Amino acid sequence: MEYYRDLGIYDLYRRAVEIPPAIEEHQAANSETIPTTMSKKIASLDLPIFSTDPSSDAGRLAAIDVENRPAALHGIREVIGDCKRCKLHKQGRKQIVFGVGNPNAELMFVGEAPGADEDQQGEPFVGRAGQLLNNMITAMGLKREDVYIANVIKCRPPGNRTPERDECETCSPFLMRQIDVIRPKVIVALGAVAAKNLLGLNDSMANLRGRFYDFRGTRLAVTYHPAFLLRDPRQKSEAWKDLKMVMKAMGLAVPKSKE
Ligand code: URA
Repeated sequence: MEYYRDLGIYDLYRRAVEIPPAIEEHQAANSETIPTTMSKKIASLDLPIFSTDPSSDAGRLAAIDVENRPAALHGIREVIGDCKRCKLHKQGRKQIVFGVGNPNAELMFVGEAPGADEDQQGEPFVGRAGQLLNNMITAMGLKREDVYIANVIKCRPPGNRTPERDECETCSPFLMRQIDVIRPKVIVALGAVAAKNLLGLNDSMANLRGRFYDFRGTRLAVTYHPAFLLRDPRQKSEAWKDLKMVMKAMGLAVPKSKE
């Protein structure tokens, strides 16, 4: 399923398959071993079919022209609409937090989920963790407006709990399409939730950090979530190592004083 989603195929349909006569004869001869419901139109196969339904999410996302980045991002936001696809819409979210930044960004950060401040303001990473993320971006010699920032899910989970699997899966096609549009040089996954959802790897941060992954042809690095760094500032030097690795890959100069 993940493979097909990576290819931009979100809808899978069941298609009845005619059984070749030889198999039918075999079934007739062994009818006691084959459930009758599976005889004539045997168990259908799950086959991927490119969605041509222009009114489905998959069809609407696929129809977006990713070359015109600002319009494409606007188009993805339109598809999301006043989203009620998962339970978060009725669990106190004020608004959808889509993503922010430069549509032509070479660097994209992906966090976990909006918190209270983000839910209030409609923009990712605007609270305390956002202030620290801004400092991290500045330390890289960039401005917040240079990069693109999004989250795995676009609605605040109640009490800032960890996003649940169904919520991540429901929101994933929209984040994937945002990445298709931005086509950054490097993606930085902030924290284990982002890493797990983007890479499908359920590992400790210690094991996930310190290397690049191939994410649909784009380099992806994992570093500590700024909220974690606020709780344990001793790990900031480790996060800085990750960011320097990213800077080198992007051809950004690391100032001598910060090496
Ligand atoms: N934490 C996140 O993961 N994302 C935000 O937007 C804010 C805090």
